[in-house]
Amino acid sequence: MQTTRPALDLSTTIPGTMMDVPLTIHWIFQHAVNNHGAREVVTRLDDGSYFRYTYADFGKRVAQLAHALVELGVKPGDRVASFGWNSHRHLELYYAVPMIGAVLHTVNIRLFPEQVCWVLQHAGDKICFVDGSLVPAVARAMAVRSDVPMEFVVMGPTTTELPGARDYEELLAGQPETFDWPDLDERTAAILCYTSATTGDPKGVMFTHRSTVLHAYAAGLADGLAVTQRDVILPVVPQFHVNAWGVPFLAPMIGAKLVMPGSGMDPASLIDMVDREKVTLALGVPTVWLAVRDELVRRDTTLPTLKALVIGGSAVPPSLYDDLEAKGTRVIHAWGMTEMSPIGTAAAMHSDLEDATPRERRAALLKQGRFSPLVAWKVLDDEGKPVPRDGVTAGALWVRGPAVTGSYYRLDAELPVFEDGWFHTGDVCTIDELGYLQLVDRSKDLVKSGGEWISSVDLENELMGHPAVREAAVIGLPHEKWIERPVAVVALREGQSVDEPGLQAWIGERVAKWQIPDRVVFVDAIPRTGVGKFLKRELRERYKDLLSE
Ligand code: AMP
Repeated sequence: MQTTRPALDLSTTIPGTMMDVPLTIHWIFQHAVNNHGAREVVTRLDDGSYFRYTYADFGKRVAQLAHALVELGVKPGDRVASFGWNSHRHLELYYAVPMIGAVLHTVNIRLFPEQVCWVLQHAGDKICFVDGSLVPAVARAMAVRSDVPMEFVVMGPTTTELPGARDYEELLAGQPETFDWPDLDERTAAILCYTSATTGDPKGVMFTHRSTVLHAYAAGLADGLAVTQRDVILPVVPQFHVNAWGVPFLAPMIGAKLVMPGSGMDPASLIDMVDREKVTLALGVPTVWLAVRDELVRRDTTLPTLKALVIGGSAVPPSLYDDLEAKGTRVIHAWGMTEMSPIGTAAAMHSDLEDATPRERRAALLKQGRFSPLVAWKVLDDEGKPVPRDGVTAGALWVRGPAVTGSYYRLDAELPVFEDGWFHTGDVCTIDELGYLQLVDRSKDLVKSGGEWISSVDLENELMGHPAVREAAVIGLPHEKWIERPVAVVALREGQSVDEPGLQAWIGERVAKWQIPDRVVFVDAIPRTGVGKFLKRELRERYKDLLSE
């Protein structure tokens, strides 16, 4: 990770001040092992059984893994890939890899084979740790590109053989249970995560030890995710997507029990986990909780232990908020971005709302929330002037802070999203007098379906490659199950014809099935802005009910 901060000149500091101790992940690790050694980490395995151990056991295995990594030749600064669900083994990688000075690259298991190869190569990974059940996905990726040299370590049982792969448990067996951890600068790179781009290739965000520790501190505050040692936390948000929103650091830091869902992301498995392990706090995108809500309604039951649900990644649908609150579960609406580690805001109550009507309170808590103390913000109009903080006037949101990225990994181009030490989020928002952020639009044209990004630009390019299509705009429209689904608005060339299924089939040959637009609408011409860009805002408004009709 590049940094412009000069080394501290100790000769000029005033004697008698605090110890100069780097903020590294080792702090969280040592604290969990030494002070919360008896607290449990539980993983639901693929066969539906549960594996459990304590933070003390975790500590020993992290040391064993560190020895194994060194034996495999991993050196400080090397990138090590993981391709896995949320599990205790993935948690071990989260600590052992950065604590020896290397970088854990968490690969999104939902990428296409070509994209998997692209990120592995861009990151410069030499070793990839893969869950047994995901070996087929990795094998498909490797079949695409035989020129990406990679050693594999398989975690847990698998039915598919990966030639030459090592077994995780065999690597750890017999290794010493302690490790002489190196002293690291707090600015050392720790974890690398790629985010989807509007156009072009994914972009790498590199978290440092310092940003990771600070983010965990801020996220855990009472007006943040409000985590205590008594909590039992279920991160349904994946470890391959922005560090499961920081929970793998936050829970051990506080000594909370951690429940890892593995591949059991369906509503029945999640309800089973909450019930059995007495989960008090769970986190994930709205799609997951909509499905859980429907299953609870079908069974006519509640989850009495579940005190709070953190929902983010997309806006919380008001009906979901109401249903969960009615079942006694507090909804904490949160907003963030990969580039922000990711949590930027959380919707906790403000003192001024204490005497407000329930309706006013609900309206405020349905917004994306109030800012983390480590995130500075500004909201600018088209001319770059700050907009009034009135909860009505919208503008472009810029942020800055110690857990906000200052650049993308190995991308030297000067990007307009970074300016004068600020990062342009691409979100359009209002901020009210109490400090609640509300997103009103997205300036980047991505569609977010069930927590996964779909590039509208990629789909438009494919559609416009069809001989009958003159122009095409793809927009995300509200969808009950997936929150948003892509819809294509298409104008045809004169004298040419193609119908909706025909275009869906054309696209289906070119992108993953889940990215095919749900509908194709034909128009004479697509409305445009003054500078000739498609007026997607108008299209979104015009067709807003299309998918619910
Ligand atoms: P990612 O980097 O994949 O986590 O996506 C970040 C983007 O997701 C943000 O810039 C927003 O556009 C969107 N997003 C995240 N949280 C929310 C939320 N609570 N409500 C609406 N959009 C959100």
